[in-house]
Amino acid sequence: DAARDEHSATDFSGQPLICGKVKGLAPRAALNPATGARVGRVTDAAPEDVETALAAARPWSAPVEERARILNRAADLYEENFGPFFALLAREAGKTLPDAVSELREAVDFLRYYAARAKAITAAPAGVFACISPWNFPLAIFSGQIAAALATGNAVLAKPAEQTPLIATLAAGLLLKAGVPASALQLLPGDGATVGARVTSDPRVNGVCFTGSTETALIIRRAMAAHLAPGAPLIAETGGLNAMIVDSTALPEQAVRDVIASSFQSAGQRCSALRCLYVQEDIAPHFTEMLFGAMEELTLGDPWSLSTDVGPVIDAEAEAGIRAHVETARREGRLLRQLSVPRGGHFIAPSVIRVRGIADLGREIFGPVLHLATYRAEDLPKVIADINATGYGLTFGLHTRIDNRVQEVCEALHVGNIYVNRNQIGAVVGSQPFGGEGLSGTGPKAGGPEYLARFTRPEAVP
Ligand code: ADP
Repeated sequence: DAARDEHSATDFSGQPLICGKVKGLAPRAALNPATGARVGRVTDAAPEDVETALAAARPWSAPVEERARILNRAADLYEENFGPFFALLAREAGKTLPDAVSELREAVDFLRYYAARAKAITAAPAGVFACISPWNFPLAIFSGQIAAALATGNAVLAKPAEQTPLIATLAAGLLLKAGVPASALQLLPGDGATVGARVTSDPRVNGVCFTGSTETALIIRRAMAAHLAPGAPLIAETGGLNAMIVDSTALPEQAVRDVIASSFQSAGQRCSALRCLYVQEDIAPHFTEMLFGAMEELTLGDPWSLSTDVGPVIDAEAEAGIRAHVETARREGRLLRQLSVPRGGHFIAPSVIRVRGIADLGREIFGPVLHLATYRAEDLPKVIADINATGYGLTFGLHTRIDNRVQEVCEALHVGNIYVNRNQIGAVVGSQPFGGEGLSGTGPKAGGPEYLARFTRPEAVP
């Protein structure tokens, strides 16, 4: 029953999270996407709270060694709190156990990596950074942005996604508990169009770190242009329209496994997820049969059950948009396969839709929907040109056993992250930095060595 499941925003931290909170809006419910039950309540920041936070924000002046020590202490606290994090990641964000484990690891890696890297940075912090994060990695991206800004000595105003305020509250509470001063980290939960817009358009904000849609990044860029000093950084990680090519030399069992993980893990709600699969024509019948067989083995359901492979999508709006896309394909006779879906909750059944090529997708469908095209060997250059023509350039996968094909394809594609003979999934902090080109982001890559420099103020060297 809903009441018994409820978490309160301060259960785990007991810390005041909005520094100098003066008002706050009426509390609202955070909802479980798998059941519709209330997970807890959150008080969004009122305009007065944003004003108070802006006035209270002070760059973190402690020496870099101390900042690094505190961020490492926060990483320890994150690890100690896996239980509470899993409870919220499963209930508020619909994350499965394996997703929750890798998300926590990524968050911890970001904290430790930026803490270590910051010692090499000599430039001054930009000042006050707004960190605007999405719901799909409500712990890892939220924490990675904040860790980078704090490690370099900035003050942070963190605006988590509307859908996942409780995870953000737990994480921010642990950062404060580790020793980050309240004037250097303030959490401002609330709506993008109000709280997010207010923060990013304020001249007291010296830089913005954003992950979310390309459209929102453009809105933020315009808001900043109206107020901020030239050169104030916008670090944006945005969407993708990601493809994979499986040629006739690929190992089919491995390729099928990687296609399943890349398109259906996290219910397809990763910016790195595979959206359009190109299979070479001569192996296509056998390959798709194997793929449909492997799909049947996926367990759909509430991520609270540890056997779940694919959970719900985040909310009613996401569900409606994806469902409409799949229904159009069904009417047009292009829905090749669809699993059946549990009752209740925002579930979308993993689906495969036939397309001629990536241009048919039009936009990023952020859910467990794979688009399938076939190609002839001689058309490979055309396939690559079509992928480049989307304007996005986030991830790309290639399954082949032909060595010089790997080189040829990688050189021709304008994509930030390429995955060869493996699944097409996210970043490995420190060893495989993540980030896109074109409409997919501004760079530099998160989890890589150049990233931290963007959080500092460029100083004239006489
Ligand atoms: P998504 O499709 O992942 O929800 P959004 O770009 O809408 O992508 O959201 C990503 C983050 O940006 C969220 O925290 C959201 O609240 C915030 N956001 C949305 N609109 C704005 C805006 N106009 N200004 C600042 N932040 C915004």
